[in-house]
Amino acid sequence: MKTVFLDLDDTLYKAPIEECNKILITYAAKKYGISLELAKTAFEIGKKQTKELLPDVAATHNRLLYIQHMLEILQKNVVADTLELYNVFWDNFLEKSVLRKGVKGTLEELKSKGVSVGICTDLTAHIQHRKLQKLGLAPYVDWIVTSEEAGQEKPSIKMFVLCAKKAKCELSDIIYAGDSYKKDFLGASNAGMKAIWYEEDKYPDFYKFYQEEIKPWI
Ligand SMILES: [Mg+2]
Repeated sequence: MKTVFLDLDDTLYKAPIEECNKILITYAAKKYGISLELAKTAFEIGKKQTKELLPDVAATHNRLLYIQHMLEILQKNVVADTLELYNVFWDNFLEKSVLRKGVKGTLEELKSKGVSVGICTDLTAHIQHRKLQKLGLAPYVDWIVTSEEAGQEKPSIKMFVLCAKKAKCELSDIIYAGDSYKKDFLGASNAGMKAIWYEEDKYPDFYKFYQEEIKPWI
């Protein structure tokens, strides 16, 4: 098979979410002179409100909305401060994000074999494009499918059908790998792709994962 689609977050790199949530909460607490506990609670409620309003679509992960709701709860100026706090989170996140060991070697080998590579990822397109650029993936990635453009999140079949449509091939012609058993492995499997579950603990070196689990299917 000459087409591989990969999940992005926690597959090609380890997302530093907890660390950056702490940075954001500490920043907000200091900025407003409030306790860390209050800042954390307001953030958690803001996140929960977003997820209740927008289940199963890309915006369910949108931190701009989490933070806007957080500032509404704290009765702060949402227009003045939402983007500032949003940038504190994402600037730190992107700075701390690095490709997993072996990912670059894997992508170089796939390219040299003439295999097309796509990214299939939940979340809004803008931030996923920022991540792909920061991680240096531009030379290796032929297509990107986000849940924002598909209208639904993995494991919805819409995501996987859009991958095949972009690659101009059948679902059964695609090898798919990702870290979530439910979203990636079952989702891609049920859609008819050759799905492979990526387990970080088993394969800290992504190239080894590629050699043992992906390469035999190419
Ligand atoms: Mg993932």
